[in-house]
Amino acid sequence: MRVGIGSDVHPVEAGKPCWMAGLLFEGVDGCSGHSDGDVAAHALCDALLSAAGLGDLGSVFGTDRPEMAGASGASMLAEVRRLLDANGFTIGNAAVQVIGNRPKIGPRRDEAQRVLSDVLGAPVSVSATTTDGLGLTGRGEGVAAIATALVLPLETER
Ligand code: MG
Repeated sequence: MRVGIGSDVHPVEAGKPCWMAGLLFEGVDGCSGHSDGDVAAHALCDALLSAAGLGDLGSVFGTDRPEMAGASGASMLAEVRRLLDANGFTIGNAAVQVIGNRPKIGPRRDEAQRVLSDVLGAPVSVSATTTDGLGLTGRGEGVAAIATALVLPLETER
């Protein structure tokens, strides 16, 4: 078994759709960025790549490649799952914590866990916290996420 860690932070941008943990949150300002700004999905991608020793989002996708413009977090997670499989790893489980004031994850936690677990084919836990008004997340300037993942070598034929 191998564990990995990932994190991400994006600035909040007024009027941008808010994609977080694979869900669209209506009426909440989203995160700016080249992709859809889903920091939870990005942190999970990095944790999975880290666990498998396959680098990070920047080295795998390139952070400014034109084909990644507006890329959904779910599509990036699906690609990471495919990469892990191609390199002989299966996903044990993953966990992500969203750090920020908005969106409110709690009421949609089950939905987010279902969507992310479906994409990865493994259990994904989603949690959230605030920073009590401190720092860029506390002031609502940005949203952060931190994630861990466990991967296992695929069973080989004997
Ligand atoms: Mg990111």
